[in-house]
Amino acid sequence: MSQKFDVIVIGAGPGGYVAAIKAAQLGLKTAVIEKYKGKEGKTALGGTCLNVGCIPSKALLDSSYKFHEAHESFKIHGISTGEVAMDVPTMVARKDQIVKNLTGGVAALIKANGVTLFEGHGKLLAGKKVEVTAADGSTQVLDTENVILASGSKPVEIPPAPVDQDVIVDSTGALDFQSVPGKLGVIGAGVIGLELSSVWARLGTEVTVLEAMDKFLPAVDEQVAKEAHKILTKQGLKILLGARVTGTEVKDKQVTVKFTDAEGEKALTFDKLIVAVGRRPVTTDLLAADSGVTMDERGFIYVDDYCATSVPGVYAIGDVVRGAMLAHKASEEGVMVAERIAGHKAQMNYDLIPAVIYTHPEIATVGKTEQALKAEGVAVNVGVFPFAASGRAMAANDTAGFVKVIADAKTDRVLGVHVIGPSAAELVQQGAIAMEFGSSAEDLGMMVFSHPALSEALHEAALAVSGHAIHIANRKK
Ligand SMILES: Cc1cc2nc3c(=O)[nH]c(=O)nc-3n(C[C@H](O)[C@H](O)[C@H](O)COP(=O)(O)OP(=O)(O)OC[C@H]3O[C@@H](n4cnc5c(N)ncnc54)[C@H](O)[C@@H]3O)c2cc1C
Repeated sequence: MSQKFDVIVIGAGPGGYVAAIKAAQLGLKTAVIEKYKGKEGKTALGGTCLNVGCIPSKALLDSSYKFHEAHESFKIHGISTGEVAMDVPTMVARKDQIVKNLTGGVAALIKANGVTLFEGHGKLLAGKKVEVTAADGSTQVLDTENVILASGSKPVEIPPAPVDQDVIVDSTGALDFQSVPGKLGVIGAGVIGLELSSVWARLGTEVTVLEAMDKFLPAVDEQVAKEAHKILTKQGLKILLGARVTGTEVKDKQVTVKFTDAEGEKALTFDKLIVAVGRRPVTTDLLAADSGVTMDERGFIYVDDYCATSVPGVYAIGDVVRGAMLAHKASEEGVMVAERIAGHKAQMNYDLIPAVIYTHPEIATVGKTEQALKAEGVAVNVGVFPFAASGRAMAANDTAGFVKVIADAKTDRVLGVHVIGPSAAELVQQGAIAMEFGSSAEDLGMMVFSHPALSEALHEAALAVSGHAIHIANRKK
């Protein structure tokens, strides 16, 4: 007899495992199916985020930043270190250990919450049945009242640059270089491309980023994107905009990349090439032909605002559905769906999903950009405060960038907070909290912030919206 569950989740990434834990906490008999095997050949939970995404990339970003600081900035504090060297295999092994600890932690949480784990490939059949195929090919069919599809995404491949995970790699391969490449090409100046570029540039690699679009970071607030371009270029990243890759040739462990830009055809040779042109939803053999679940025109599983698919009782969350491909968006959708299955009226505020690029300085944003609001015809007041005027930033020798607060000109309600600077990820979250509670710029300006703290820059930017910042000369309003 097949087992019967209240909820079966397919995929144990940050969307799926959080959904499973939440469902179990709400008293639902829950199972999760995961097929991914980690470096040791064992099932590893946590999805892209923990295994080959958010966490490993941040581990390498932190290691490389420490190297950069020791190499470039310690002397300003009066610290001399002698020769600073980077042992790349140790850096990569540290990253692997963090991944192992975290994926093991998720497995422990799944168990502690009473969620049943099935190792293998999950497929939704008609009539809310789910087939699990184990690594040895054996299958079993499970019965359930509800299904949550959380199969995530994988890197987009492009014909001119086929990935061999040796010389031409995707984001996964780029986390495992065993030595510092002399010359690195990166196709794509998006979040992943810029983060991985930063890792290797800090370790001394000559990095060239080839971006097909003419505009740098088009989704980011224009003032922030301009500052980011200036700072990253100063750090040594060569960012070529309007550069469309047409072909690659791998020879003698090097790759020659052909591309066209405004000036015509060009070619550059690199030791490694990272292809970071985006991610696409994973739906391979996920749905039986008669499952009834439909896709949208871009291949994402179609869902409504509550992540319900076209089949009652079947939901989909995370990277496999519309919206930002971000771990925290996936997790919150998982929580919302579990709550709704349990009969609660949960919803999610899609307007307030923060997004961060973990370069240094970090680039973080929540709400709308000034250009988007202007295009919508919304009159706004803007306050900007530079970290160069922050005592805490000066003390930390980390003064690049600024905080920008955008408020509705009529109501003063905060509509966007955009930060480029130290701890931008943490600061933007404070903006998100204020916005969630409908704060005005004046409300934020009236709050007491600790001194000295980087968050004072948010306080001052909010005050600057009405021309009342204390620690910079205000522009006339
Ligand atoms: C290099 C990199 C850096 C990133 N950095 C960040 C960051 O800093 N912050 C951020 O928010 N996001 C970041 N992301 C994006 C983030 O990793 C994803 O948005 C997030 O992992 C999506 O979660 P998910 O649960 O939807 O899918 P995934 O994490 O992709 O998990 C899906 C899981 O489902 C499993 N699966 C798929 N199909 C089946 C099946 N049929 N049966 C069984 N199992 C199946 C897969 O093996 C996988 O484990 C980064 C991504 C990359 C690649």
